[in-house]
Amino acid sequence: MENPRTVLITGASRGIGLALAERADRDGHTVIGLARSAPEGAFPGKFYCADLADARTTAETLTQICAENEVDSIVNNAGLTTNSTVQDTSIEELDRILAINVRAPLQCVQACLPSLIRSQRGAVINISSRAALGMPRRSAYAAAKSGLIGYTRTWALELGKHGITVNAIAPGPIGTALFHSNNPMTEEETLALQNRIPLRRLGEPNDIAGPIAFLLSNDARFMTGQVLYVCGGLSIGAAPI
Ligand code: NAP
Repeated sequence: MENPRTVLITGASRGIGLALAERADRDGHTVIGLARSAPEGAFPGKFYCADLADARTTAETLTQICAENEVDSIVNNAGLTTNSTVQDTSIEELDRILAINVRAPLQCVQACLPSLIRSQRGAVINISSRAALGMPRRSAYAAAKSGLIGYTRTWALELGKHGITVNAIAPGPIGTALFHSNNPMTEEETLALQNRIPLRRLGEPNDIAGPIAFLLSNDARFMTGQVLYVCGGLSIGAAPI
């Protein structure tokens, strides 16, 4: 591996984060995972447990991570959504979703910035969502995931001079715990969704791990501030060119 990294992955205990941890390990990177609970099986690297909804715990854990590791890449992947209409979205729900999806990524980047700058080739990858384009029953989540796109473009402008690239991936429907708990569907409804997806299937965690692996690779070294929709084509017709 010509460009091994030390990559912090939040939300690494299952779903997209775990698939990415396994892929990054196979690619020769050193992997550091973070979530509230450790994965059920083996994890290919160090694992730290913290609730990103709690700002103080997050700060303490990040201090420990940065003292014990020279992090040069961050994948802000931990995420949470609910399934509320605009009328039903509570302030508590909004605060929690913004805390995990928006406040925690800022804390991660701020804590690791000294080592990202030292590396002169840092990479930050924010996991946004197709929901940033607008999606019913996703007021708080869409606001949070749009916020990550705002971060991506802003940090790309501020941090480029340090050789740090900042990009976002906006996944489409990926069949994980998060997707199934927020999209309860009959078999018929699942088929109808699949028929709306140009590639005619739900995604799998590895469908997102691959594009993130590309953003961590040398091949992406001149790419920054971009949002990559990885959604089987479902965002085509909704996203501007
Ligand atoms: P998932 O299977 O539910 O995994 C979420 C991960 O985040 C888990 O490791 C979870 O671990 C961690 N997490 C959740 N709350 C946390 C907290 N308070 N503190 C620390 N860690 C926390 O979800 P996924 O589908 O892989 O989603 C990964 C990312 O992709 C999210 O940002 C999501 O918004 C985004 N995304 C997913 C889809 C999709 O269709 N699946 C589409 C668009 C975007 P613990 O529960 O152990 O804390």
